[in-house]
Amino acid sequence: MAVRQRPAYTVHQVLPNAPANAIALTFDDGPDPTWTPQVLALLRQYGVRATFCIVGRQARAHPDLVRRIVAEGHAICNHSMTHPLPFSHRSAAAIDGEIGGAQAAITAAAGTAPTLFRAPGGDWSPPVFSAEASRGLKPIAWDIDPRDWSRPGTQKIVASLLAAKPGDILLCHDGDGEHPAGVDRSETVQALQTVLPQLKSRGLTFVTL
Ligand SMILES: [Zn+2]
Repeated sequence: MAVRQRPAYTVHQVLPNAPANAIALTFDDGPDPTWTPQVLALLRQYGVRATFCIVGRQARAHPDLVRRIVAEGHAICNHSMTHPLPFSHRSAAAIDGEIGGAQAAITAAAGTAPTLFRAPGGDWSPPVFSAEASRGLKPIAWDIDPRDWSRPGTQKIVASLLAAKPGDILLCHDGDGEHPAGVDRSETVQALQTVLPQLKSRGLTFVTL
């Protein structure tokens, strides 16, 4: 079994045959009953498909939202069961339990199994790569990080996302790994209202990973 020791940072590392102008939008830590529907409505409005990195605990709490994500044509990614941080230095058994638990919870909710894994906090280690490889999951990271989870202000999120170039993977959050009940993601939603039409007008093609 080949074990990757590095996640994919760009679209073409995941999808070598994607168009040259492809970019990928990703949403982590949901689904959340307040913010995920608002994100889905914007994606639908602008005809954009994205990849949702789902926390297993959230999938179990909101299976209807997981089904809706899939039904609307978006991709799903395993983002651990409970989003423990730091992630990489836990025992191999604990890491595998987090990945396996989420795989079961997300698959049960979605009706289809994720093929991708994103480590909580982007915190990778050899045991993390081994655990995901043993489950047939491809590791994905990002290269554009607006740190929207920290609520830096809508304009900062907009500026960061608008710096995207062809091939970039963009990171946003529709939930919060530390707070299962959710935190305010209105800055992220407002930023997307500006960013989605502008990136589309540049001729970028949004792809799912
Ligand atoms: Zn996360």
